[in-house]
Amino acid sequence: MKTHAQAVVIGGGLVGCSILYHLAKLGWTDVVLLERDELTSGSTWHAAANIHGLHDNNNISKIQYYTMKLYKELEAETGQGCGVFQPGSLYLAQTEAREHQLRLQEAKARYFRADFHNITRDEAERLHPLVDFDGIRCIMYEPDGGNVDPSGVTHAYAAGARKLGAEIYRFTPVTATIQQPDGSWIVETPNGNIHTQWVVNAAGLWGREVARLAGIELPLQPTEHQYFVTETIAEIASLGRRLPSVADRDGEYYLRQEGNGLLIGAYEKDMRFWAEDGTPQGFGHELFADDLERIEENMMRAIARVPAVGTAGIKRVINGPMIWSPDSAALYGPVPELKNYFCCTGIIPGFSQSGGLGLMSAQWIIQGEPQYDMFAWDLARFGDWADKAFTKARVQDQYANRFKIHFPYEERAAGRPVRTRPAFQMQKDMGAVFGLNYGWEHPLWFAPEGVEPKETYGFTRQPWFDHVGTEVKALRDGVGVIDISNFAKYEVKGEGAGEWLDRIIANRVPSEIGRSCLTPLIGKRGGIAGDFTVTKLGEDHFFMVGSGMAERYHQRYFTEVPRPETVSFTSLTVALCGFNVAGPQARTLLSRLTQEDLSNASFPFMRSRRISIAGVDAIAIRVSFTGDLGWELYVPEADQVKLYSALLETGRDLGVRPVGSRALLSLRVEKGYGSWGREYSPEYWPQEVGLDRLIKMDKPEFLGKEAYAALADQAPREKLVMIEVDADIADASGGEPIFLPDGSPVGRVSSGAYGFSVGKSLALGFIKTPSAVAGTEVSVAILGRPHRGIILAEPAFDPKGERLRG
Ligand SMILES: Cc1cc2nc3c(=O)[nH]c(=O)nc-3n(C[C@H](O)[C@H](O)[C@H](O)COP(=O)(O)OP(=O)(O)OC[C@H]3O[C@@H](n4cnc5c(N)ncnc54)[C@H](O)[C@@H]3O)c2cc1C
Repeated sequence: MKTHAQAVVIGGGLVGCSILYHLAKLGWTDVVLLERDELTSGSTWHAAANIHGLHDNNNISKIQYYTMKLYKELEAETGQGCGVFQPGSLYLAQTEAREHQLRLQEAKARYFRADFHNITRDEAERLHPLVDFDGIRCIMYEPDGGNVDPSGVTHAYAAGARKLGAEIYRFTPVTATIQQPDGSWIVETPNGNIHTQWVVNAAGLWGREVARLAGIELPLQPTEHQYFVTETIAEIASLGRRLPSVADRDGEYYLRQEGNGLLIGAYEKDMRFWAEDGTPQGFGHELFADDLERIEENMMRAIARVPAVGTAGIKRVINGPMIWSPDSAALYGPVPELKNYFCCTGIIPGFSQSGGLGLMSAQWIIQGEPQYDMFAWDLARFGDWADKAFTKARVQDQYANRFKIHFPYEERAAGRPVRTRPAFQMQKDMGAVFGLNYGWEHPLWFAPEGVEPKETYGFTRQPWFDHVGTEVKALRDGVGVIDISNFAKYEVKGEGAGEWLDRIIANRVPSEIGRSCLTPLIGKRGGIAGDFTVTKLGEDHFFMVGSGMAERYHQRYFTEVPRPETVSFTSLTVALCGFNVAGPQARTLLSRLTQEDLSNASFPFMRSRRISIAGVDAIAIRVSFTGDLGWELYVPEADQVKLYSALLETGRDLGVRPVGSRALLSLRVEKGYGSWGREYSPEYWPQEVGLDRLIKMDKPEFLGKEAYAALADQAPREKLVMIEVDADIADASGGEPIFLPDGSPVGRVSSGAYGFSVGKSLALGFIKTPSAVAGTEVSVAILGRPHRGIILAEPAFDPKGERLRG
């Protein structure tokens, strides 16, 4: 066995083999895969192996299309059959909401120039004569949908990797992974050890156990999952062609042809966890006992839709394990707390995504960053707060609602609350409806008296629309208090603190005490990896505020520049709470509670000061994400309720009210402010989102400087613009494709909201450069239907920034 390698991939399932193949394909040929048994010995061998192209998330769609295409290329490249059948997939909508989802997907397909289109019942009946389409209000057809042979695909990846020089050792279980002082790893097996630069955990069902070898816990939980295959059905046998698969997601089952029978799988409500305390090491090619009673309700719905299922005998039942993350997306990426340790685990639709996952993994490892923004899959989206109880509760919810529609702004209740602040109860008493942000409960909106504080979901405007509007207007007309405790907060302190920070962020660290600056953090490809407000509190003392959900993600960057021993870097996210007090009466309100002179002359925009307010010591920064006159106040967690109560009581006559994050979305969108994960992402270049003006190329160094320098002079590929949309029952929410009036795809929405203070439905979005011109007419596919839009020349609210600086 080899003793050295650039990377060791642990796990010879579908995903591990794809990563190995892609590492080799991208030029790392000195790579090894270790498999404790035969290849495919985890979830892979018994999968139904259905494949789909289109997904609600645009980047996942790209990855799925790449994967579907790759299978055929792999067959040609390796000679190993992948058993690809692409008779197409039929997507059925039984409800209005499902129809909205499918029509939006159809519009997205036009944007991707992919084939996913509406067909009539007649056409559908011709394609699949066994389906009863009664009660179906909309049918889409994806000609590329189908299924593959699980073993064939895995072996094709393996063959492709071997051809490129990679090595695979079967029956070689990894028993230890030991980090070396230089960041490399020793991987131990009974057959010898390998010294490697990178470890890749692709151990599927054993992802948790392999992670523990490196001292980390992954929020994963296996479940059982069943499908069954019928005996031969005469109509199918006589058809002489393969039937398309059926995605009747309102019926909560999947169905496709297998041999001359049908394969039906179900995600049942009465689900079963498996291996809660750890996946047994000896488990391999076993299956669990059948339990068809558990999926009876789903089966009955399948039988009602395809009556032949009810009369055919059952040939075999597969009940096997699969492993889930709390939101059912992959747990993916380099572990921020370790050097050179990569995870790619918790993958449910592995056959739809294996190629893209392999490619993104290889890019991340070799090139430092994948080409697409993978935050929705990045394991850094979870922290320690995602404990076992949370993981189990969420996995149960994910499994039982696998085919439920994910609506915009959806907040699932399972496993919550996990982390609350002292004001939680007070906010609840004021009618708050909460959302989850990196584990924290935070108010989304406040139900007025007489209204039940309850979320409803849909693609159309929901009952909370008006209540959010009331909050926006209260802030714009008077003053509002937004709980921003879920922002990430950091303290950088000690001799050399400013110099160290200057080597990380792209803007210049403020040199004067009391000054703040906005700064991007530049990624490995020159895009926007983050945006922060940096405040100089004292000599060698800085305070930083960034995106709360990205705190663990940003850790990767902060550990990249060696920190002098004299400098401390501390997260204050837990220790401090925050309020944004904003609106034209913000100064009046705050002045009643502090002796400080808050006049514009004394406390202008982008300045900060430590102040005493309502008897509480606070860091006050004159910024506001609302685009209005405002201050951010950061106080010790223990003082949160005291300050909150004082603000709300003292400002009563000014019309003060608590304001939630849905209103903040509307406020920031009408002002045109970008948000991390939406407008700011490593995929976007600074000049595309208007952050290039904050980059100081004359600094000797900062993270990503070289990468940015290579693209700084290039014209933006697309530009972030604000669009006013003619919308009545639904607003854009993000992801909607944008077309020119002639139907050609020109961009997509990044954020959308109704701008309550300007009385316009608005969208922020990326438009291809030649068309990103004020006054251009576009068509935004809200609910999948064309909605006329006009690119605005300037932000809809306070374009000159007079309110902000007033
Ligand atoms: C019943 C069922 C139906 C499914 N249907 C579909 C479907 O229709 N479409 C779809 O896309 N997906 C489907 N899936 C999911 C799919 O099977 C998974 O997404 C995929 O197989 C995950 O592959 P993997 O490589 O991540 O993990 P695994 O297949 O679990 O592979 C992990 C590998 O790591 C090895 N390993 C573990 N520990 C060690 C160690 N210490 N040292 C060395 N090697 C180790 C294991 O032996 C194993 O071979 C289904 C799953 C089930 C259970």
